[in-house]
Amino acid sequence: APRLYSGMQPSADSLQAGNYIGALLQWRELQSSYDAFFSVVDLHAITVAQNPAELREKTRRTAAQYIAAGIEPSQSTLYVQSHVRAHAELAWILSTITGFGEAGRMTQFKDKSARHGADATSVGLFTYPVLMAADILLYQTDVVPVGDDQKQHVELTRDLAERFNSRFGTAFVVPKPVIQQESARIYDLQNPTSKMSKSAETDAGVLWLLDDPAKSAKKIMRAVTDNEGSVRFDRENKPGVSNLLTIYSALTKRPVAEIEDEYAGRGYGDFKKGLAEVVVEEFGPVRARVLELLDDPAELDRILAANAARADEVADATLDDVYDKVGLLRRQ
Ligand code: ATP
Ligand code: MG
Repeated sequence: APRLYSGMQPSADSLQAGNYIGALLQWRELQSSYDAFFSVVDLHAITVAQNPAELREKTRRTAAQYIAAGIEPSQSTLYVQSHVRAHAELAWILSTITGFGEAGRMTQFKDKSARHGADATSVGLFTYPVLMAADILLYQTDVVPVGDDQKQHVELTRDLAERFNSRFGTAFVVPKPVIQQESARIYDLQNPTSKMSKSAETDAGVLWLLDDPAKSAKKIMRAVTDNEGSVRFDRENKPGVSNLLTIYSALTKRPVAEIEDEYAGRGYGDFKKGLAEVVVEEFGPVRARVLELLDDPAELDRILAANAARADEVADATLDDVYDKVGLLRRQ
C-alpha cells in the first residue's frame, strides 16, 4: 500500500476541534488504504519553550488522543518522533542542502518570528521545515495530508528530495501533499476568521477535545455569530455561523444544506444548543477512552515502544542509504 505520513505537535494538554475534524477524522478514514505513519512530533514542539515535565505528559496525552479517536496502533504506525533517532540525524543532512534564503522564505517562520521578535526566536524554529522534510522523507512517503498552512513546507520537502536524489542518487520518494478541503478547516469561535489552534492566545474560542462537556457547551453558546438571525452558510459575510455549520456537518456527516433546512426559521440559540449536543456526543466517548488509556501509562508506553521499533526499521534503512550516498564513512 502507498505510504502516508502525518503528525501533530504535543503543544497542549488537549487537541482542539480543528485537529480532530481536520486531521484525526481523516487519518482514521485513510489508515485502511495506506501504510500510515502518525507521529507525535515532540521535536517540533520544542522549537518554542516547553516545560519538560509537562511536555512528557502532553506527548502521552496526544498519543492517547490519536488512539481514542480511532487510529489503530496495530494497523498504523503511531509513534513519538523523538523515539526514532533518525529524524534529527536526517534533518542535519538535509539542512546542508537547504539554502539559507530558501529557508528564510517560509511564511510560517516569517509570521512567527515577526510576532515574537528575532531574539525570542530559536534557530530550531527557523529549521523546523527541514526537520519536517526529514520526518516525511525517512519513510519513503507517497502522500502527506496537511492543512494549507503546511503546503509550503511540503513543497520544500519535495524540492529537497529532488535535489538530494539528483545530486547523490535516488534515496527518496518525492511526496505529494493532500491539502485538506476548506470544509475541514475550523476557525476560532471568538474570532472566526482565524484558524482554531492549540496555541491560541485566548481560551474562549477553542473547543478542546478533552474539555468538560458543560464547558464546551458554554463556549458554543457564547460563540460569535452576527445579527441576521438566520442559520445560513456564507463564509464571507457570516464567518461565525458558517464555522458552526462546518463543525456540525463534519461531526454528523450531514450536508450543510440539510442542517440549514432543519434550523430554518429558528434562532441561533436553538442551533447552538443542537450543535452543543452533537459536540458533547462526539467528544464524550473520546474523552472517556483517553482517560482510560492515561490510567495505564505503562501499557500506553509499551504500545508506543512497539510502534517506534517498527518506525525505526524503515527510518534506519533510509538513513543508512543517505549516509552512504553523502559519503560518510561507515562505522565497521
Ligand atoms: P499549534 O498552535 O501548536 O501549531 P495546531 O492546533 O495548529 O497547534 P498542529 O499540531 O500545528 O496543530 O497541527 C496538527 C494537524 O491539525 C495538522 O494536520 C493541521 O493541518 C490540523 N489543524 C490544525 N488546526 C486546524 C484547524 N483549525 N482546522 C483544521 N485542521 C487543523
Ligand atoms: Mg499549527
